[in-house]
Amino acid sequence: MIETLDIAFERAGHSRITEFDENNIQFGKVYSDHMFMAHFKKGYWKDMVIKPFGNLSISPANTTLHYGQSVFEGLKANRAKNGDILVFRPEANARRMIKSAERMCIPPVSEEMFMATMTELLRIDRDWVPSKPGTSLYIRPVCFGMDPYIGIRPSEEYAFMIFTSPVGAYYTEPVTVKIETHFTRAAAGGVGAAKTAGNYAAALYPATLAQKEGYNQLIWTDGVHHEYIEESGTMNVAFLIDGTLITAPTGDTILNGITRDSILTLAREWGIEVEERKLSIKDLMIAINSGNLNEAFGIGTAATIAPIKSIGYEGADYNLPSVDSWELAPKLLKTLDDIKTGKVEDVHGWVYRI
Ligand SMILES: *Cc1c(COP(=O)(O)O)cnc(C)c1O
Repeated sequence: MIETLDIAFERAGHSRITEFDENNIQFGKVYSDHMFMAHFKKGYWKDMVIKPFGNLSISPANTTLHYGQSVFEGLKANRAKNGDILVFRPEANARRMIKSAERMCIPPVSEEMFMATMTELLRIDRDWVPSKPGTSLYIRPVCFGMDPYIGIRPSEEYAFMIFTSPVGAYYTEPVTVKIETHFTRAAAGGVGAAKTAGNYAAALYPATLAQKEGYNQLIWTDGVHHEYIEESGTMNVAFLIDGTLITAPTGDTILNGITRDSILTLAREWGIEVEERKLSIKDLMIAINSGNLNEAFGIGTAATIAPIKSIGYEGADYNLPSVDSWELAPKLLKTLDDIKTGKVEDVHGWVYRI
């Protein structure tokens, strides 16, 4: 399955691993010793190298800086008890990155190249995969235009990089969210389904306003009438209403989360009623007011499951039943953790072992 690629290797003169404390990891602050890098020139990916993590040199006219022709991915590796490195569903990330790239006119990195280069990087920096419960190695592939050209057209040259960062638990506490009914994350025909740079820049301002009001995260609603729930911050979102697990269908405006797919798969196997359908704010409010909203949680690689303890809507806050009383979200979290760390049999073929 894996292409043999010609990857040059420049070893870091000095490993920084002793500078990092597995018991006290700050998200996204420490990077492993090496990074993978390739360049797309004249129709091919070439100059593949694994080298010390370090700064890039780019033109001030770099097209990505100005116009955001950039896509990325996020996935995690865990350490199994026997020391093996287990990566969760990397092929799905590779395929999603191809889709994001196509939407942004970026020449896609093939699934084979993604897998082979990620594997090689993880082999070299395998000591950076932490083993403490709740910790993992976050893997960040990113691909962007490199032309030193300020005209607007697809870049001719691109860079593809993978670097990694040891991480602890993302959210430790249940979160408060605000239903956003003014700003829009994504519109039909837009780029909401692509993991592309600009989506996240555009979300910063509304998210900052919500944070000033005391919320941790936003719940985005549709860009037409702000009537239907879409996703939460950088996560998909699901609601357990009267025993039925409801989440918005993915499409143009909702990112096709791999955690989302994993959770829906598990819930269906457990005999839970699952509905992928539009959920209106109105129906959510009815469920809250009648006591039928059992659980609500964000779903994504960073947090896996982020339980929601209260929902703000039009200035009022609605509390959910105490997270201690929930059954589904904790069971989903534990099952996924056990699969990711190799504690239970991987019946779905989700785990890629290095
Ligand atoms: C990455 C991301 C998700 C979650 O996807 P996972 O594959 O589960 O990590 C959800 N929404 C947005 C907007 C994202 O960028």
